Amino acid sequence: MKKVHLLTYGCQMNQLDSELVLGALASEDYKPTESVQDADLVLLNTCSVREHAEDKVYSALGTLKRLKRKRPELVIGVVGCMAQMDREAILSKAPHVDLVLGPGQIDHLPAFVRQVLGGENGRRKVLATEQKEVRFARNIRARPDPNQAFVEVIRGCDVHCTFCVVPMTRGPEYSRRPEDVLAEVQALADDGVREVTLLGQTVDHYGKDFRNGYGLGELLRDVASIDGIVRVRFITSHPRYLDDRILAAISDTPKVCPYLHMPLQSGSDAVLARMKRKYDMARYRDRVARARETIPGVSIASDFIVGFPGETAEDFEASVRAILEFRFSNSFIFKYSPRPGTAAVEFPDDVPPEEKKRRNQVLLAVTNRVREEEHRSMLGSLVDVLVEGISKRDPAKYMGRTRTNHIVCFDGQPELVGQEVSVKLASATTLTLFGERTKAEATDIVRG
Ligand code: SF4
Repeated sequence: MKKVHLLTYGCQMNQLDSELVLGALASEDYKPTESVQDADLVLLNTCSVREHAEDKVYSALGTLKRLKRKRPELVIGVVGCMAQMDREAILSKAPHVDLVLGPGQIDHLPAFVRQVLGGENGRRKVLATEQKEVRFARNIRARPDPNQAFVEVIRGCDVHCTFCVVPMTRGPEYSRRPEDVLAEVQALADDGVREVTLLGQTVDHYGKDFRNGYGLGELLRDVASIDGIVRVRFITSHPRYLDDRILAAISDTPKVCPYLHMPLQSGSDAVLARMKRKYDMARYRDRVARARETIPGVSIASDFIVGFPGETAEDFEASVRAILEFRFSNSFIFKYSPRPGTAAVEFPDDVPPEEKKRRNQVLLAVTNRVREEEHRSMLGSLVDVLVEGISKRDPAKYMGRTRTNHIVCFDGQPELVGQEVSVKLASATTLTLFGERTKAEATDIVRG
């Protein structure tokens, strides 16, 4: 049996693509290995969204160059978004790479590895970046977590925000047929999965290409009806597409978690317009109000970019005010970096790096303050926690998540992993809630 060492960078989409890759390679007798030294095939599944992620890949390729010198038979592949964007540049900067494969080609990875190995006259390079529809072929058993699974329901993106490479790396948007999604979730449930997260860059735009009225709201209801599945999540929502049918489906369907990840990106209408986000603050405010009215206790998380071209001090203050107004349970904050091929690369990158860093720190501090206040308000309540395993921060404890995606640590046992337990919250840090298990029959459970 051959061994593959796979490193994944970037978002949940990439994590799932890595699962698809490992599943496809399993049918060719490749087994995953944690050790790069043992591997016959090393794959880097890459991200282009930020310059920093690309730097990490080139640094890893530098290390692999030394390994390849010692073991010339080793096959090295770069797959994913950076492979799509950088293509020939990867082969010229890192000539020890054998295989460069865009995200639209991952179905064909085993055949390309065979091509590399079967190369004649020392010609073993393969470059494949044509955008093709992915079949989402999955080996149900090749999953990192026995109880939770990602399920991709929509791929690509048609929004074309001016800072983002995704429409170029993953191509135009298309939805997966509901019957295929439901068959996969059924198979996952049969294999013991309890929680599924439906994935898409604009997941709330799901189904618009069917033109028959079937959308994410309907899909959420159908997925939740599958026996064995106890929780359904979905990410990432776009404020333009989050409609009332989706909100009603969350509200009416107890298995669908009351959690929205709906990036705002900036609190300034001027910046949102330059980003071409296709909504303004009034639209965002309307969606948050509607969500809170329809789904009591809903938790909302956001993303922000600081230092976007032309972001003034007043624009930035508007982002600070937005976090305080919307009380996000979490905000993921990124410093803007120009990405080749995007529209924003033409804008002057006029916020100095030190100022980007300062704005990043300020937004993080405000996010943390809001989160600490929220955590304090939850102390003393009972929450349902789906147990994920031993806590990485404190190996003496177990951890899991509430339905609102809050992380909770408590004293547990191995047999609780994959179960929902009731925990009384007793203390909190900025990132984590701590509590004690209570009897499941407690009646005043806060659906947390
Ligand atoms: S919605 Fe905008 S940020 Fe999100 S993937 Fe599409 S282009 Fe990128």
